[in-house]
Amino acid sequence: MLTIAVSKGRIYEETLPLLAEAGITPIDDPKKCRKLILQTSRDDVQLVIIRATDVPTFVEYGAADLGIAGKDVLLEHGADSLYEPLDLNIACCRLMTAAHKDAPEQRGRIRVATKYVKIAQSYFASKGIQAEIIKLYGSMELAPLVGLADCIVDLVDTGNTLKANDLEPRELIMNISSRLVVNKAAMKMKHAAIAALLSQFEQTLAKR
Ligand code: AMP
Repeated sequence: MLTIAVSKGRIYEETLPLLAEAGITPIDDPKKCRKLILQTSRDDVQLVIIRATDVPTFVEYGAADLGIAGKDVLLEHGADSLYEPLDLNIACCRLMTAAHKDAPEQRGRIRVATKYVKIAQSYFASKGIQAEIIKLYGSMELAPLVGLADCIVDLVDTGNTLKANDLEPRELIMNISSRLVVNKAAMKMKHAAIAALLSQFEQTLAKR
C-alpha cells in the first residue's frame, strides 16, 4: 500500500489531474465527506487528507510514504529529512513582504508578522535588517492595519487579498510551487512502486 498525504483545497484540486493520469482517482470527495483516509481506484494507493503544514511531518515519520506540499511549508518545516524529487509546478505563487500602501520604507528595526518565522528570520538576516518576527497563524494582512507589525511575509497569488486590505506587495522572497516529497525509508522499501509513480508524474508534467 502507498499512502499519499495531501492537503485540502488548491493543492488537492491541482493534484487530482496528476493522480488521474497515474490511474488514481479518489473514491470519495473530501469536500463532501469527512473521511480523512480516502480509498482510490487503485487498491494499492490511498490518500490521507491533512493540513498543509502537517504534510512534511506525516511523511518524515513514515505515516505517509509520499506527500504533496508547498515549498514554503517544506522550508519552514526544515525538510532535510525528506526526499524532494519533483517540482510539480502546481499551486504556484510568490512569498513576499507586504506593507500598507502608504507606509514609507522602514529603516532600523522592524516588526514583521508572519506564519513563516524561520523563512522570515533568514530573509531579513540575509539583508542585514533587524527584524522582530511575530508569529501568527492566519489573517496576517490585519497586522499592519492595527499596528501590530510594520509589514508581513505571506503568500501572494493574484494580490487581491493585499489590495482589499490596503496593503501592497513589496519584495519577492521566493517563487513557490508544490513539491512531491518522499519518506526516505519508503523510497528504499517501496522503491518499485514509488519509482513508477514518479515516472508517471514526470511524464504528465513533461506534456504540460
Ligand atoms: P491572492 O489574494 O490571490 O493574492 O491570495 C492570497 C491569499 O491566498 C493569502 O491569504 C495566501 O496565504 C493564500 N494563498 C495564495 N496562494 C496560495 C498557495 N499556493 N497555497 C496556499 N495559500 C495560498
